[in-house]
Amino acid sequence: MSNDEPACPTLGDVSAAEFRARLHEVADWIADYRETIATRRISPQERPGAIAAALPASAPAHPEPLAAILRDLDRVIVPGLVHWGHPAFFGYFGSTTTAPGILGEMIAAALNVSAMTWRTSPAATELESVVLEWLRQMLHLSDRHQGIVYDTASVATMHALAAAREALGLDIRRSGLAGRADLPRIKVYASSEAHSSVDKAVITLGIGEENVTRVPADDEYRIVPAALEAEILKDMADGHRPCAVVATVGTTSTTSVDPVEEIAAICRKHGVWLHVDAAYGGAMALLPEERWAMAGVDAADSVAVNPHKWLFVPLDFSVLYTRRPGMLRAVFALTPEYLRGDASANAENYMDYGIQLGRRFRALKAWMVFRTFGEEGLRSRIREHIRLARLLASWIEADPAFELAAPVPMAVVCFGVKRENVPAREIDRLNEAIVQSVNETGEAYLTQTGLRGRTVIRLAIGNVLTTEAHVAACWELVRATAARLG
Ligand code: PLP
Repeated sequence: MSNDEPACPTLGDVSAAEFRARLHEVADWIADYRETIATRRISPQERPGAIAAALPASAPAHPEPLAAILRDLDRVIVPGLVHWGHPAFFGYFGSTTTAPGILGEMIAAALNVSAMTWRTSPAATELESVVLEWLRQMLHLSDRHQGIVYDTASVATMHALAAAREALGLDIRRSGLAGRADLPRIKVYASSEAHSSVDKAVITLGIGEENVTRVPADDEYRIVPAALEAEILKDMADGHRPCAVVATVGTTSTTSVDPVEEIAAICRKHGVWLHVDAAYGGAMALLPEERWAMAGVDAADSVAVNPHKWLFVPLDFSVLYTRRPGMLRAVFALTPEYLRGDASANAENYMDYGIQLGRRFRALKAWMVFRTFGEEGLRSRIREHIRLARLLASWIEADPAFELAAPVPMAVVCFGVKRENVPAREIDRLNEAIVQSVNETGEAYLTQTGLRGRTVIRLAIGNVLTTEAHVAACWELVRATAARLG
C-alpha cells in the first residue's frame, strides 16, 4: 500500500477524503488478497515473539499516517498469519470466509450499532430474528425453537447449561452455589468425544469439572445410550442431580453423530435437559439426503449450531436454539435502571438471553451470505465438501500404505499410514511427523487428532474455494511425505 499522507488531525476522525482514499485502497487490498490467497504460504515460519519484536513496544505518542500503518500490515502482520481462507487449509473445522460475509463485516463495522435491546437498534434486533427464523427453517427445527446469536458455540453451550442448571429449581440464580449445604452435586454427561467446551461451561458455571461424566463411545465414536442411562441412574441413587446431557452431531475429531433420538428418550424419562452440540454437523440438515444426522434433535431442549463453521458465515456467528427460552431469561434477564427506558416490553431485547450487553450486528453478514448464495447455493457447497471428503476416503482405501481411522459421515477424514510389523508408537510418530512436515511446506495445512490412544492425521474440508484439485494435491503431498519419512 502506498503514499504517505499528512498526519491525522488531533481531534475528530481521519478526514473524509483520506478515509475514502484508504477505503478504496483497502477494498482493492481485500479483493487482491482473496484473488491471490491460493498462492500464499498457508502458515508462517516465524518463531514465537518475532512478530511482537518487529513492532514498537508502546503505542505512538503522536498520530501516524494510515499509509504507514497499512504498510506494517503487509510487512509484519500478514506474513505472520495462518491463512485460514486458503483453499488447502484443511485444519480444525474450516471457518471459511466469503465475499458476502466480508462485505457484511465491513458494513457492520461502519454501522457499529449494538443489538442489546430492540430500541437500541430496532433493525439489528429484527434482522437477527429474521435470520434466526430463516436458519431454523433450513435446519428443520420446529417453530417451538427460539434462537439467539452468540459469538461461539462454547458460549452457546455455556448459556444452555446455565439454563439447564436453573431448570433444576435449586434457586441458583438468586442464592448461588457457594456455602449451601442444601445443594446436591450437579451432574452433566457427554461422550468421551464431546468438545472441551462442555467442561469449560461446567467450570464457568461453578458445577465443577469433576462433575462432567464422560460416557464411553462405541466403535464409531458415538455415545452408548445404555452406558449413559446407567451413569444417570447411579448418580440418582447416590443422591446427585443429573442436570444435562450434551449430545454431539458432528464430533470434533471424527464428526461422529450421537444417537440423539435414544438419548432424548432417556433425558425425557429422567427429567434431564438435553443440549445438542451441532456446531459443525447442523449444516447436514440442509441436505435432504443427510438429514439423518439431525434426527431427533428437534426434541432437544437446546441446540447449538455454528454458521461460522459450515454455513459460510465468517467468524464469529454461533446460534443457540431452545424450546425453553423462558429458562434463559430466568437466568439472564436483568434490566438496570439506566436501560429501563430502552427495554421495550413488547419487543425482543436480546440482552435478556445472555451475559453480554453490547452485541455486535452479526446478523447482517449472515443475512448477506444466505441471500447471496440462497439455500440451494448453501446446499450445493456443503454437498460438494462431502463429496470431496468421500472421494479422498476412497483414495485412502485404495492405497495399501494408508488406512482410514474412522468412518467419514461428513467432510472430515481421519486416516494414517499402514505398516505391517511396525509398533503402534512408531506409526503414531510417523503420522505426527507427516502433519508437521506437510504444514512446514506452507502448501497445505492439516491437523492431527487422538483416537483411542492413537495419533492420526485429520483433514477437514469446509472452504468455499476448495476444489478437487486442492484435495488431490494435498493427498499427493501426504503420500510423498510418508514415503520420504518412512
Ligand atoms: N463443538 C464442537 C463439536 C467443536 O468442534 C467446536 C470447535 O471446533 C466447538 C463446539 C467450539 O466451537 P467455538 O469455537 O465456536 O466455540
